[in-house]
Amino acid sequence: MTGRVTLVGGGPGTDDLLTVAAVRALAAADVVLYDRLAPHARLAEHAPNAELIDVGKRPGHHAIPQSEIEALIVGHAEAGARVVRLKGGDPYVLGRGSEEVLACHRAGIPVEVVPGVTSAVAVPAAAGIPLTHRGVSHLFTVVSGHAPLTEAELTHLAGLGGTIVVLMGVSALPSLTAGLARAGLDAEMPVAIIERGFQAGQRTTTGTLSDIVGAAGRAQVASPAVVVIGEVVRLAHDGEADSLALIDRAARLAAVFP
Ligand code: SAH
Repeated sequence: MTGRVTLVGGGPGTDDLLTVAAVRALAAADVVLYDRLAPHARLAEHAPNAELIDVGKRPGHHAIPQSEIEALIVGHAEAGARVVRLKGGDPYVLGRGSEEVLACHRAGIPVEVVPGVTSAVAVPAAAGIPLTHRGVSHLFTVVSGHAPLTEAELTHLAGLGGTIVVLMGVSALPSLTAGLARAGLDAEMPVAIIERGFQAGQRTTTGTLSDIVGAAGRAQVASPAVVVIGEVVRLAHDGEADSLALIDRAARLAAVFP
């Protein structure tokens, strides 16, 4: 009897942000193949009957190639297992989830997808940064820093006037910020880099388009991190101590960007 595959978005790395559907799928799993950035600290509790397989990849050290991960998913399902493929964030946001769904279809294996809380939205929130704010930014664009952006893409991004969220952007930071500056983005545009969201050691480094590369170098910023570029960074708040200053900043920003 053929098993089935559930591709589960595990959120940005903390159990608190697993969905109810994710928890249910894990509880019923025979095999769980999980990524480095998926929440895995308490996987044995969530999936007590499952064989747990770490297929985590580190930047530069591709532990298990994508084709092998797909072969593992398909192989376990063909052997009759209920397979959960637990991914970080949302499976369909820069996570190769669609390739894994296609691999199941090619093998004739039933597959469903459980969406997850993407780090693109949740990690800025962990640092108190809203991606939109009425009068300040009414759109955000999520880009991958994995491959260089073309000049045309940089020009569009710089011209949009919204918030830019970069995943996998630590190594690309110098070329990305230089490219956006070349494309006309204001050198004073605020930038925040949030490392290890929701983990011990979560840290935010801030600067502007022109000086963030230096700040990131001094702070030895490392992956995983989410980069946020936009006026919304000025609205960062991680406590209530600065309420008045925050309210004042928001009012002034909204007046500047009607
Ligand atoms: N599908 C995932 C993204 C995969 S790409 C999602 O929807 O979240 C991997 C990138 O996500 C990392 O390089 C980093 O930019 C970001 N990321 C994921 N989890 C993170 C975390 N806990 N803290 C900071 N960045 C994170």
